[in-house]
Amino acid sequence: MDRRIYKVRRIDPVERTDECGVLEGGNGSWRFIPGADAGGGKRLLMIPGLRDVHVHFRDPGNTGAETRQTGALAAVAGGFTCVTTMPNTTPAGDSEEWLREQIEDESLPCRIMPSACITKGRLGREVAKLELLASAGAAAFTDDGAYVANEDAMREAMVRAARLGKVVLQHGVEPVALAGGVMRDCRIARQHGFAIMHPEAETLAIERDIRLCRETGCALHVQHISTAQGVELVRSAQKEGLPVTAEATPHHILLCADDIPCDDANWKMAPPLGTAEDRRAIRDGILDGTIGLFATDHAPHTAEAKEGGFRKAANGIIGLETALAATYQAMVLEEGMALVEWVRCWTVNPARLLGVPLPSAMEDFVLVDESANIVAGTDTFKSKSRNQPYSGMRFAAWPVLTVHGGKAVYER
Ligand SMILES: [Zn+2]
Repeated sequence: MDRRIYKVRRIDPVERTDECGVLEGGNGSWRFIPGADAGGGKRLLMIPGLRDVHVHFRDPGNTGAETRQTGALAAVAGGFTCVTTMPNTTPAGDSEEWLREQIEDESLPCRIMPSACITKGRLGREVAKLELLASAGAAAFTDDGAYVANEDAMREAMVRAARLGKVVLQHGVEPVALAGGVMRDCRIARQHGFAIMHPEAETLAIERDIRLCRETGCALHVQHISTAQGVELVRSAQKEGLPVTAEATPHHILLCADDIPCDDANWKMAPPLGTAEDRRAIRDGILDGTIGLFATDHAPHTAEAKEGGFRKAANGIIGLETALAATYQAMVLEEGMALVEWVRCWTVNPARLLGVPLPSAMEDFVLVDESANIVAGTDTFKSKSRNQPYSGMRFAAWPVLTVHGGKAVYER
């Protein structure tokens, strides 16, 4: 026993229990003693290690932006112990070798449960070898970064994924309807004459996929939902009893297009930030359970790739290290969401999406300081990239200790 942490409030999101006690432990072995003396010091929240079903680690192919190692360090610094990498790397993640490389890296401080491509080379034409990829460890299938527009390919993929008991994760933005839109309608868009993304770009994609879900019975997961209309489509599909789930990113939950201060690509991502009405609908969707998961869409880019403002810069922002803080701020503090439900969106529900159990509560957890009062700044980030809009924003909650496999893998 090399430490004893008093005043620990432990939330078990599976049993929905909430109790105070003392946490004792050290390397490899931890013990929680409920009801033990409060002692001195600050109260810390103990919850299971967070799970993110949507990260980009740029490895292989663009390791100047992120490597599996720096991505994993960013993950545990953010309180995450398991992440699902996206296959939009170079080469694309459509092979057993690619999956093996993601899964078998023993040097990482967290676990990777990778997804694999829906179509060969992520080209949207021929369905990838889903059966081989599933047996090689693919947790789910997605062409994320691109919408699978070819309906025949998507239907075939969903029939085969359903047989394998796997979910398809869809980047629900229809490129023709997007028409080069880089931003939703807002002051900055009008000021600079930027091409606008209309909600139809999202709703056309979601509508088609719900139709295919109804036809094939395959579980459909809508990635990074961003419009009020999209949330409503998911809600009515669930009412119909279809296996449809959705995730919202911390940035679509906390921020909106009106917050964009200027032509700064640190605010550019796909899909773009919604309007204030969209943000309201996303928060309502989380509160009523329509949107059951948070996911970061952590998307590192080099400084060069982020040059040129909204017209030229690459899409995406990093998010692993601010995700807990941003979602706590928006949902727990601003919306009064029950703490246990907030925890479930980061733990139980992502695990259920991939059909895996949560690891043992004493081997995989994070301690959170709910009154850390931290001003976000890139100087402390473990990610290799710096592209994000949160610099200078103040956050109440911040992870202070992450334990994975019984070992402390991050400590603030
Ligand atoms: Zn995407």
